[in-house]
Amino acid sequence: MDKEKEQPTVDQLFIGVDVGGTNIECGVVAPNGKIISRSYCATLVQDGVDAVIDRIADTINEAIAALPVSERRQIAGVGVGIPGMVDPVNGISLNAVNLGWRNVPLAAKLTERLHIPVKIENDVNSYVYGEAVYGAGRQFNYVLGLTIGTGLASAFIINGEVFGGAGHLAGEIGHIPFDDIPYVCNCGQTGCLETIVSATGIARQAADAVSNGMDTMLARLLEQQGSLTARDVSIAHEAGDRIATAILNRTGIMLGRALAAIVPTLSPDVIIIGGGAAQAGEALIAPLTSELRSRLLPIFAERLQVRTGELGSNAGIIGNAMIAKFSANN
Ligand SMILES: [Zn+2]
Repeated sequence: MDKEKEQPTVDQLFIGVDVGGTNIECGVVAPNGKIISRSYCATLVQDGVDAVIDRIADTINEAIAALPVSERRQIAGVGVGIPGMVDPVNGISLNAVNLGWRNVPLAAKLTERLHIPVKIENDVNSYVYGEAVYGAGRQFNYVLGLTIGTGLASAFIINGEVFGGAGHLAGEIGHIPFDDIPYVCNCGQTGCLETIVSATGIARQAADAVSNGMDTMLARLLEQQGSLTARDVSIAHEAGDRIATAILNRTGIMLGRALAAIVPTLSPDVIIIGGGAAQAGEALIAPLTSELRSRLLPIFAERLQVRTGELGSNAGIIGNAMIAKFSANN
């Protein structure tokens, strides 16, 4: 573009979109970080790449159409979070397993449909970016955030900018190897941290405890349901089941050990814990924090804060919108 970049105004609105394997969620985010219009639809991955991209565009248009006419003109950019590897500079979704996407030029295809600038980002980076700007990290410059979901991943935000590293691959802490973890990971390695520290990992430890004949209500739950989830482990813990408590304790300790290596490397002000499995709350966070603090030099332990995410499922939408804003203004 040879046209000079327009000066940013306080009235600019940005749109954040979270594309998951099941749903597409979209929100228009005001300058104060509040979501003022929302829309969503099913992803329907099986319909193919172009059909999904059409649906993303339709969902965005729906959120815009719900705004008063005067505000529609203030839309200045769109940020889209994708579960997988992205090339944010060229706007390409390199590999998104849940979507079955490889090398999809998403930003270009969406800009063609919407006539609005589009940025794309990895969904964990977007989540942590949202928390860094408007959530638990808002008063800090160096924000490390984790999502403990199906897998485990992290992002590091430095002064409002994603630290992507070479190939934009930084943050894959789920695949840090530990000698004393016996499980084989989806990636093919044995001993990856996320085989324990993830919703899948918590469920795996529960199934192990039952098959080892441990006296736990998880055995009864397994018999009733046919399988176990991380949520079952939390429920059993809340009901006073000591095996369930021990599983969450071990999970927190293993994450604390990994963070004891990461914190001196990056020196974050704050670590934000998010993702579905983080709902286990203190049963996981307390052992994590005490293990981490016990292994850190006092200069790190004294200044470091450990917090849980504040924005919940809005973090991704807000983060993607703020990434679009950063791109428009820099
Ligand atoms: Zn792995």
